[in-house]
Amino acid sequence: MNIDFKKLADKYQTPFYLYDFDHITAQYTELKESFRARKSLIAYAVKANSNLSVIKHLSNLGAGADCVSIGEVKRALKAGVPTYKIIFSGVGKSDEEIKEALILDILLINVESSAELDRVEELAKSLNKVARISIRVNPNIDPKTHPYISTGLHENKFGVDIDTAKRMYIKCKNSEHLEPTGIHCHIGSQLTQLEPIRESINIVANLVRNLKAIKIELSFMDVGGGLGIVYKDETLINTYDYAQTILDSLFGLDLTIICEPGRFIVGNSGIFVTKVLYEKINGNKRFVIVDGAMNDLIRPALYDAYHRVEVLNNNKNLSDCNLVGPVCESGDFFAKNIDLPETQSGDLITIYSAGAYGFTMSSNYNTRARVAEIAIENGNDRLIRKRESFEDLIANEIEFL
Ligand SMILES: *Cc1c(COP(=O)(O)O)cnc(C)c1O
Repeated sequence: MNIDFKKLADKYQTPFYLYDFDHITAQYTELKESFRARKSLIAYAVKANSNLSVIKHLSNLGAGADCVSIGEVKRALKAGVPTYKIIFSGVGKSDEEIKEALILDILLINVESSAELDRVEELAKSLNKVARISIRVNPNIDPKTHPYISTGLHENKFGVDIDTAKRMYIKCKNSEHLEPTGIHCHIGSQLTQLEPIRESINIVANLVRNLKAIKIELSFMDVGGGLGIVYKDETLINTYDYAQTILDSLFGLDLTIICEPGRFIVGNSGIFVTKVLYEKINGNKRFVIVDGAMNDLIRPALYDAYHRVEVLNNNKNLSDCNLVGPVCESGDFFAKNIDLPETQSGDLITIYSAGAYGFTMSSNYNTRARVAEIAIENGNDRLIRKRESFEDLIANEIEFL
């Protein structure tokens, strides 16, 4: 797509996030189509990008929402996702969150420990409700991704082992306030290999068959999210192969498939746009200093993540530099040791693949206002979140002064 960044920067000021809603549509549609042989629900993982307009756009396409806090559940509802398409996951839910989820009567509560199941039962009883339960199984499979985003090994805090899961389903079956409804497995993020997915789904499908043999019939198989995207030169899992692998594992089982992609849907829909403040040389190291920083996009600092960077000027004079922000941390960089053209103050720089875990992980560190978010759809741009003001930042403190 041809985007006039200069015009957008003049209109909205920098830094800002730009999301291509047509790309979001294309990603959603590709995945949904891959599963067309079965009943399926694409439950968008809200934490990847929780902007209400993004959720609403996906909801209009038919997506549900995978939420990891009651705040995300409320966002999904606000954006128009119907309760019967909302799932609540997460390794530590508070009583208040569980109660609200029960009262709202969302599709599934994904439970991640026996202790949590006991608590859900007590709370459901106190509200005289029946909780629809899905248990997150930890298949102990190495997803071969960054250790911070691996979730499917026993050394990770997520889910329960197969034997525990089985005992928990039996407890559900014997409880008046729990209904065993689904099964869940999510082994990690930015997955680029199909084999670990195939192995985990097979483990989970076997459990589903074992449960069936003891008259516990589930309706939903939630295969998690985690599909990777291209940041640099990754080879991706083909969505058709992905879906086919899952369908093969579920042979003979009548389950609706739930898939919870986050990054796959929004990652490459987003661009972070920032502008050059100054250049400087320390010793013989060149630094390009921009107005965006790690508080806006923390992935390079947190995961040493690669984001493709482009300088929007016509200078062909490349040299090695670090691209850094103004925050008082040496971890505040977008890229290290890259060749960039010579820049002038005011030159725009675009940082790609920033639509997932970009804005949602941003903070007010250094009392920096969170940036504006802009949508572009059919060539038309619109503001979907205002840049924060200083007053926004201090609003919750000022009354105590
Ligand atoms: C984070 C998360 C997802 C989404 O992961 P992506 O890598 O963004 O697709 C899906 N399901 C659960 C339970 C998650 O925690």
